[in-house]
Amino acid sequence: MHKNFKGTEKTVFGRGSFSQLGTIVEERRGENDGFMLYLVDNYFKGKALEKRIPATAADIVQFIDVDPEEPTTMQVDTIRDDVKGSKGIPAAVIGIGGGSIMDLAKACSLMFTNEGPSEEYQGLNLIKKPGVYHIGVPTVSGTGAEVSMTAVLTGPVKKLGLKCEWTVFNQIVLDPELIETVPRDKWFYTGMDTYIHCIESRDGILNNAYSTAFGDQALALCRDIYLGDKAGQNAENNEKLMVASLMGGLSLTYSEVGIVHALSYGLSKILGEKHCIANCIAFQHLSDYYPEGVIEFERMIAKHAITLPKNLSKTWTEDQITAMATVAINLEHMWNHAIGTDWKKTITLDVVKDLFRRL
Ligand code: NAD
Ligand code: ZN
Repeated sequence: MHKNFKGTEKTVFGRGSFSQLGTIVEERRGENDGFMLYLVDNYFKGKALEKRIPATAADIVQFIDVDPEEPTTMQVDTIRDDVKGSKGIPAAVIGIGGGSIMDLAKACSLMFTNEGPSEEYQGLNLIKKPGVYHIGVPTVSGTGAEVSMTAVLTGPVKKLGLKCEWTVFNQIVLDPELIETVPRDKWFYTGMDTYIHCIESRDGILNNAYSTAFGDQALALCRDIYLGDKAGQNAENNEKLMVASLMGGLSLTYSEVGIVHALSYGLSKILGEKHCIANCIAFQHLSDYYPEGVIEFERMIAKHAITLPKNLSKTWTEDQITAMATVAINLEHMWNHAIGTDWKKTITLDVVKDLFRRL
């Protein structure tokens, strides 16, 4: 069976395209209870962008601090219950922020129409009904969350996405001006998430012409942005990074991620490490699995004078290492892609624990 994926229905791309958001949302005004729910990264509170949000008096604009933790099932349920209790079901959910807000917006959209706690829907195709119209406006580029069919949530038991066709945004607004203010370290780590998506998508058994075409193009863009003559954060590279993020996301959607993401999920679930830096922490030690990718990654690290945390495992307990390795090894689809269908012959819990000891 080949994957049969639904893509984003509508995309606007270009500098200043955020100004078109008002027209886009008004087309939905008649749906459900007629109001819009804007979920906006707290970073924009008091910034110029806040005044440009096309909300009317009927709409809800909720600022969210994504720094304490990555989106949780409890957070989604609380937003849904509060909004439903006060105003009903929104005509559209609009997420303005990085990957965390993209995932929150996607998950809230689904949970307005699917009853009960969102932790019950963590997994593939567990959602029963389409969500409300949802629009993604990324302000950090790299995770590919703006195009992916999953909304990653940390629940009481697992860190796993609500993954189904209806998760995909109906509309995305890609305005490269919105990522101009991303701090340099985050710009690097999230961009490397794209880079790693493409390497993992390519270096595994599910790699195919379709995923490779997107991945190769995204890799070429990453090389311009992080290693080229005009490397760094500038207007041209911001446009390129927005497109690379999208193409990296499409590449992995039609293939799979691998060992880096398996380890990264363990780090995030047990130690609360953020997704993109967790990937970088793991990737630097995986040259035996991704030889070319790690060499190029090290050139990017050197060029941008990034210092990644090392020797972290010295402070970890045996229980923590076991817990992280258990999270990682349970992501069977990633090992299957990276190592092959007989991966269980070589990848045991002890092997994965040793990988964590490298970090
Ligand atoms: P983020 O959304 O966690 O935000 C990182 C930081 O950047 C925050 O402090 C935020 O306030 C700040 N910020 C946002 N926009 C800014 C701007 N324009 N200028 C300055 N600061 C800004 O960052 P992220 O790395 O994009 O997202 C990480 C999340 O994405 C994780 O929760 C991870 O699980 C998720 N993720 C999802 C997918 C998917 O396919 N759904 C894939 C990978 C990662
Ligand atoms: Zn990722």
